[in-house]
Amino acid sequence: MKRLTAFVCLLGLAIPALPGEERVDYDMVTKLRLEEFHHSQIMEIGSELMDRIGPRLTGSPQMKEANEWTRSKFAEWGLADSHLEPWGPFGRGWSYQACAVRMTAPDHAELLAMPVAWTASTNGTVRAAAIRLNVKSKEELEKLKGQYAGKIVFYGEIRPSKPNEKAEIERFDEKDLEKEARYEMPGGPPRYNRDEYMKRRELRHAVDAFLKDEKPLAVVDDGRGDYGTLAVQGLGEDWKISHPIPAYPQLSMETEHFGRVARLLDRKVPVEIEMDVKTTFIEQDQMQWNTVAEIPGSDKKDEVVMLGAHLDSWHGGTGATDNGAGSIVCMEAVRLLKAVNVHPRRTIRVALWSGEEQGLFGSRAYVDQHFASRPKLTKEEEELPWYRRKVKWPLTLKPEFSKLSVYFNLDNGSGKIRGIYAEDNAAAAAIFRTWLEPFHDLGATTVTLNRTGGTDHESFDQVGLPGFQFIQDQLDYETRTHHTNMDLYERLVKEDLMQASVVMASFVYNAAMRDGMFPRKPVPKEEPTKIEKKADEAEKAEKETAATPTPTPGPKSRAVGGSARMSGR
Ligand SMILES: [Zn+2]
Repeated sequence: MKRLTAFVCLLGLAIPALPGEERVDYDMVTKLRLEEFHHSQIMEIGSELMDRIGPRLTGSPQMKEANEWTRSKFAEWGLADSHLEPWGPFGRGWSYQACAVRMTAPDHAELLAMPVAWTASTNGTVRAAAIRLNVKSKEELEKLKGQYAGKIVFYGEIRPSKPNEKAEIERFDEKDLEKEARYEMPGGPPRYNRDEYMKRRELRHAVDAFLKDEKPLAVVDDGRGDYGTLAVQGLGEDWKISHPIPAYPQLSMETEHFGRVARLLDRKVPVEIEMDVKTTFIEQDQMQWNTVAEIPGSDKKDEVVMLGAHLDSWHGGTGATDNGAGSIVCMEAVRLLKAVNVHPRRTIRVALWSGEEQGLFGSRAYVDQHFASRPKLTKEEEELPWYRRKVKWPLTLKPEFSKLSVYFNLDNGSGKIRGIYAEDNAAAAAIFRTWLEPFHDLGATTVTLNRTGGTDHESFDQVGLPGFQFIQDQLDYETRTHHTNMDLYERLVKEDLMQASVVMASFVYNAAMRDGMFPRKPVPKEEPTKIEKKADEAEKAEKETAATPTPTPGPKSRAVGGSARMSGR
């Protein structure tokens, strides 16, 4: 008998846990569910973050306030070592204080527009003639020289309007989940046209250079969205200190308002616009921070289980679903764990990242500082636009690399958790199936070996650490909230966030209590596979094109070919 036990123990050490062997502490599941379902604080936390602090553009005073507030909240709940961890230098900070735009002739109308991030102010309230600029090629610009000085330029096509016939809110049904679970072999046709994107980008660069010489008063483009929804983010990488501060304000305007002015101008009806834009650049301190806090472990306290989400947002709304939702779920999950008085074996560490919207900067810097670093970029490489920058090899593994068990991320809006992407890690998938079992009645059922992209779990996955993002119901993320002025508290769905908090808390707890470290994939030694890269590029391309005035196919495409899917950001 003894020998048999010894043999089984040996086996247990030698092979990763099979689904049946993975244990779930059902008493803990009960405690977490009861605590959350009867004493949830998620919406109070949400109101503090979204209503009081507001949008959290990286480098803005609100971002710093959110860092400070989350740090004090973690400390108040009894977490240990709650602190701000610096990364950077990021570059210049920016915030805006005012933006008012009106048409004053041929009629009076308030126009909904917002300043693009890192754009300049007007000199108080200004009034000027509006003028159209709508070109298909660089060559056309030559003939237009000398007309734009002191005018307000309405740039780009008028987007064709179509009635919204599709549902605004989407949830996965059984069929959708089945599809998610089915593995997509690498090598599918890319759904992203790089040539088309590069062409659009080149044209935009030519237009920017042209306008710089022309010296207009301001430039207005058509923001993504409709029916009062307006997406606004940044253009290029103007947070970089090496970039000059833009000379004139650039605004994104709600499509119907943009359309009215542009149609009048196209019909040669003179239009006069009044605007007042006030923005502030902050260059003193270029560092940024991630908020980090812990629930210390016991017999395995040197080993760490992490959960996280990005705390930063764009500035159009209050960043409620992107990614206030993920942030408050992570906060609520650790509050829950403290409330039910857990004594984890491994240390549980929560991190709220900044700089995600500009390129996963906060989580990448954290991984670089703690787990695995890459050769430094040269000055020239740093100045390259993202699509020319190459990932550098080899990785230098740090002592903490062997101590991180697993990282869980939440960044796909306010929708509840329907499952998890196992990122090609079959051993992880087997474990997840067991861990999800107590939450089938809450709609969390699906484990897929497919990868997902565009969220901070990638910073971990890319160096060979187990990092995962959950599958979430989409709700109105793509139709209404993603990077828009409508990303507000009202779009937070309480029941969904409560469910996500319990699932997150339970996953983190299971990982902190299991006997072994979480299973890993082999450490990558070279450029990610073609498919992964393609998806990465497409995702970023999409992010940038969303900010350019040229029409985009939609807020974001879910699948970008191969086995990688886009989401998050
Ligand atoms: Zn985003």
